[in-house]
Amino acid sequence: MINAHGIRKQFHGQNVLSGIDVEVEQGDVLAIIGPSGSGKSTLLRCLNRLEEVDGGWIQIEGDMFVQENDIGEVIYAPKEKSKEIQGRMGMVFQQFNLFPHMTVMGNLLEAPIHVKKQPKEEILPLAEDLLARVGLSDKKDAYPSQLSGGQQQRVAIARALAMQPDIMLFDEPTSALDPELTGEVLHTMRELAEEHMTMVVVTHEMNFAREVANKVLFMADGNVVEAGTPEEIFDHPQRQRTQDFLRNML
Ligand code: ADP
Ligand code: MG
Repeated sequence: MINAHGIRKQFHGQNVLSGIDVEVEQGDVLAIIGPSGSGKSTLLRCLNRLEEVDGGWIQIEGDMFVQENDIGEVIYAPKEKSKEIQGRMGMVFQQFNLFPHMTVMGNLLEAPIHVKKQPKEEILPLAEDLLARVGLSDKKDAYPSQLSGGQQQRVAIARALAMQPDIMLFDEPTSALDPELTGEVLHTMRELAEEHMTMVVVTHEMNFAREVANKVLFMADGNVVEAGTPEEIFDHPQRQRTQDFLRNML
């Protein structure tokens, strides 16, 4: 689903990603963990081209998305193809980023109707089904400001799913929530994983990473320090850096 190799990114001459490899197969849940500032968000944003890379290559479902040629130039798929590839990836952010002037249902319908040009009759049943799945059918006419943070984030997940993505990217989806509200969002994500959605999740929720992910990638200072199964990373971390990080998280 995602095959990325040697991704490099600098900000103001500073290496933020120093050659990262990511491999995600159908149905994988990849958890990306690591200290703040290690480049996790930047990596996620490079994968769907919210951020341009300085080097490396990215294939999405076998299609070349980003490629570095022999002389180090970065070449992207043509504009239309790039858009189409981006559309296969849904993203959920730490700050829910809902449209504040639209109802919950309006938020779900906006992109399918205006970006994908789907007829409303076609998308409405899916949108209603998605709201039911995140437990918010009774909130479809509410505005985001009338919802709790946990509810807003569940709407954001349903909104991303309304575009019928093949891959879901989550950037610390529970970090902005009060502790008592993280559980409902993690529950929704866990259900999505059980339905075999392919997911990449940047998270500080170590229990979620251990229980739901099948692959874990530990990043520090723009590098992948260690990657493996949850058992390998959490129970038998090989690197001192990983051990220190996990000790502080527990
Ligand atoms: P993480 O998500 O792991 O906390 P980030 O990817 O957000 O890390 O940031 C990695 C580094 O890149 C940090 O030092 C951050 O300050 C820097 N950075 C991120 N985005 C930008 C940007 N748009 N401009 C300049 N520096 C940035
Ligand atoms: Mg981040």
